Order: sequence, then structure tokens, then C-alpha cells
Amino acid sequence: MAEASPLYQTYARAPLRFERGEGVWLITESGERYLDFAAGIAVNSLGHAHPHLVSALKDQADKLWHLSNLYDIPGQETFAARLTAATFADKVFFTNSGAEALECAIKTARRYQFAKGHPEKFHIITFEGAFHGRTIATIAAGGQEKYLEGFGPKAPGFDQVPLGDMDALKAAITDATAAILIEPVQGEGGIRLVPSDIMRELRTLCDDNGLLLILDEVQSGVGRTGKFFAHEWSGITPDIMAIAKGIGGGYPLGACLATDEAASGMVKGTHGSTYGGNPLGMAVGNAVLDVVLEDGFLQHVQDVALVMRQGLEALKDRFPDIIEDIRGQGLMLGIKAKVPFADLLGAMRDQHMLAVGAGENVIRLLPPLTTTAEEAREALHRIEQAAESLMIEDEKKSLHG
Ligand SMILES: *Cc1c(COP(=O)(O)O)cnc(C)c1O
Repeated sequence: MAEASPLYQTYARAPLRFERGEGVWLITESGERYLDFAAGIAVNSLGHAHPHLVSALKDQADKLWHLSNLYDIPGQETFAARLTAATFADKVFFTNSGAEALECAIKTARRYQFAKGHPEKFHIITFEGAFHGRTIATIAAGGQEKYLEGFGPKAPGFDQVPLGDMDALKAAITDATAAILIEPVQGEGGIRLVPSDIMRELRTLCDDNGLLLILDEVQSGVGRTGKFFAHEWSGITPDIMAIAKGIGGGYPLGACLATDEAASGMVKGTHGSTYGGNPLGMAVGNAVLDVVLEDGFLQHVQDVALVMRQGLEALKDRFPDIIEDIRGQGLMLGIKAKVPFADLLGAMRDQHMLAVGAGENVIRLLPPLTTTAEEAREALHRIEQAAESLMIEDEKKSLHG
């Protein structure tokens, strides 16, 4: 079938075909129900077919789909005002994806230095294990060889240092450095949490050296870690932040947020997007905020996260040959597997539970933020069954030599 498919064969897809979803559940064409703890890779932040999002999209679909940024767009001003009121930011640029939000963040930082009379300052320091998207600039920012190979010379202006190595970081700062770019929690890299003291050190380093701090909260943002944004746990604020994924709840939507100062170089004509900020996306994004910013919602995320965390730690103790470590924050959790992670992921899928792999042999659990404690316990039960099935397989193998 792969041979005959008219699609680019760039994805390694699981052999599952889903027809519809309800909250944390995905339902196949034949009616089988799967517990979805991948949630479109942290995209379906309110689960599948959330009634408030469905009606926001349908209502807008009856009015206007597309206008272009030649005119004011319904929802952009309100949405941006709500985002800036709830964050460090003063200004917002809307995009359709995470990589585009990062592109805008990178351009904003370079343009800031340029407008300050420093066109030579265009380098951005990034970190090993980072993931910032798949465009030519963002694969250079991510710096991972597997994504760079074969696509010509790596785009200039990205200098990578090991995560957590402050000496290497300081040594990498030169007269050509414009900014530091980091994910507060590396997602694709393996749910690697950047400790709060390092976040604060980064802030100080940027202040001392005239650099902008750019955060990639495409995966960690919009309630995922139990705060509106993950950097809030460390008490610092960035100058620029890229968001996407959860903010659209499944609608392709991203944004670049910045302080007035950081955005000062982005004057008329410096950036644009045909679809960025389109009325459908604005309607859905505003509806996501209605729910996520509701009193008690983030507390709910923290409460369910605690159930998951404690349950996972118990499973780690019970299955030390299968689970090596539990990491992450809020509902951005990682199981570092002792067995090849694909084996555990496969065993979980046999239990009709979905999750997603990451670097460092980690399985990511990124359930909808609306997941209940009861659904979390159901997930833990399925992970337990998966681990047990791997133990039984292992015993069989050792019995048969
Ligand atoms: C997914 C992701 C991106 C890229 O987002 P796309 O919408 O796929 O372009 C960038 N940064 C992080 C941290 C991500 O998780």
C-alpha cells in the first residue's frame, strides 16, 4: 500500500483510522475506542469535539472564513488583548503553525538588534535536543542532524550549546549574538524540564548582555504544565514567545508574542501571512481562552497531573525493568523507558491507549487538559496492563532460552 500511495512517505504512521472523537476518546471506523493521551501531540488541549469550540467554529463559518490582513479581522484585536492581558506581552502576531510562530520570533529578535543599529547581531543561541519546527530556519535552530541532512547548508546564525551547561553558554555569547532561544520544557527532545534556577540565570545573562530571551512554548504553553505558560513556574518573563498547538485546540493556529520593546523593529511591511489571524482561527482561539482562563481550570490541570504523577511513580517502582524514570510537569509527562520505548508504546496501543515517543527513549503523555481524574486512573490502569504484558513476554522469552 505504501508503494501505491500518492502521499509523500515522510511519516511513520500507526495503522489506525479514526473517524471521530469525544473528549479524551478517539473512535475508529469500526467503533473501537482509544484513550488519547497524545492529543494530536499536545494540540487537542480541550479534547476532541469540545462543544464550546465546535459551536465557535460553526458560528464563524456561517459569517466569514477569510479576509486577508488587508482589513481588520474580527476576533484579532480581542484575542490579542486577552493574550497580552494574561501574559508578559504587549504585542501579538498571528500565524498558522508553531514553525511560523518561531520564524516570527527569530525575525523579531534580529530586527530588534538591526533597529538598534546592530545588524551584525543576528545569531541566536539554542540548545541541544531542541525542536523548533521543520522550516529551513527552524531546523537550523533545532540543530538536529537527522532533520538537517540533505537540505543544503544549515541556515546561518544559530549556535547550539548543551542544555544546562552554563559555561558553554557564556562562551557562546559573542558580539554577533542577538538572542537566546529555549523551550522551558523540551517536548520532542524527551520531556526535559529546564530547572527554574537555570531559567532565571538565562534571564540575567540576557539582561547583562543586551540579548533577547525567546521562549518556545509551542508545546508547553496554554495550560499544559498547569500554569498558563510554563515559564511562570520560574517567575521570569521572556521578551518574545512563540506559541501554537494547544492555543488552537485542533485548529491550525499559532502566535508570536513580544514586549513593545522587543517588537519595536517589526514596523509596517516587515512581516506578513496570508492566513495568519484568519476569522476561523480567531473564533476558535478565543473559545479556547474562554475555557483555559476560566477560574479553576489550571488548578484542575494540576490536580489531574498529581494523580498521573503519583500513579506513574508507583508504576515505576513496580516495573523497574520497564520504566526507568518519570519526568515533566503538569500534563506534559514523560515515561523514560528501560525497554525500547516503541515496545512499551506498542503494548499500550494493544491496551487501546495512545501516547507519543520522544528523544532519550521517552514516551510522552500529553492528554487533553480536560482529562478527569477518573480518566487519568483509567490511563494508569492501561499503562499497568501494558507493562504487565511486556513482563509476561519477557518471562516467556527467558523460559525458552
Ligand atoms: C510542534 C513544535 C514546533 C513546530 O510546530 P509546527 O506547528 O509543527 O510547525 C515548534 N516548537 C515546539 C516546541 C514544538 O513542540
